[in-house]
Amino acid sequence: MRGSAAKSRQQERIMSGQFSRRGSTRRDILKSLGTAGALGSAASLAACSTTISVNPAHAPPATPFKIATTTIPIAGTNEAFPVRRIYCIGRNYAAHAREMGSDPTREPPFFFQKPTDAIQLVPPGQTVDHPYPPLTKNYHYEIELVAALKSGGRNIAMSDALSHVYGYALGLDMMRRHLQRAMGDEKKPWEIGKSLDRSAPIGPIHRVAQTGHFSKGRIQLLVNGTVKQNADLNQMIWNVAEQISKLSEAFELMAGDIIYSGTPENVGPVVRGDVMTGKLEGLPDISVKVV
Ligand code: MN
Repeated sequence: MRGSAAKSRQQERIMSGQFSRRGSTRRDILKSLGTAGALGSAASLAACSTTISVNPAHAPPATPFKIATTTIPIAGTNEAFPVRRIYCIGRNYAAHAREMGSDPTREPPFFFQKPTDAIQLVPPGQTVDHPYPPLTKNYHYEIELVAALKSGGRNIAMSDALSHVYGYALGLDMMRRHLQRAMGDEKKPWEIGKSLDRSAPIGPIHRVAQTGHFSKGRIQLLVNGTVKQNADLNQMIWNVAEQISKLSEAFELMAGDIIYSGTPENVGPVVRGDVMTGKLEGLPDISVKVV
């Protein structure tokens, strides 16, 4: 075999559109390479090699510029967790549902998403600067347990749900509260209130093997050392297994998805200069300064 140099030259020609031997178009070649049974025809097109196994998935098209991918460090390893989607659960603690003006006995929790690049990493032992966002004078915190998935599926059974969890982190769901409310009142989308840049500060992910699953434990948010939010995870209306199972009825969950599991009562505003400290029994604190 004359190996990878010839193969990659051919790949280059295919990707750059220069390969049009024997009347085959670039599209024909790419199509044939994309089907398992088509190696023969691909090989017959190649003058210089008998073993062609070019997989378009491994030869992405060139892009005119690069964009960042989002990852979260995995505690105790040199690896990082690649984030696919951020799901958030709303009104998952009864007392918080009541303070938001709904009746938890009548309205079940619900879901929304943030863009993946809303993640802001908060390494343990550091206080990270977090810019106060534009267009608000009512910037609110919500401290939340976050579950990170290593696999997914549709209609996941409750009994199987936790087997999809890779690990857990402690995160903040930050929002322009007045815009969230106003848009809700006007029956408009929440994005401008909930999905803003850096609205998902988060600590490292801790693997289930290290921490076990989180079904109970104290969760707190302090502002400048004063306790603001203070509850126990066992007060969640839907536990993590139920969240995964319910979410998978609406969306196909996949590896890399993370789920903010909702916040307890006593959410409130921060201003520039405030330091927020998040605490969850079993994980290191996170610390964020609004600047
Ligand atoms: Mn939230």
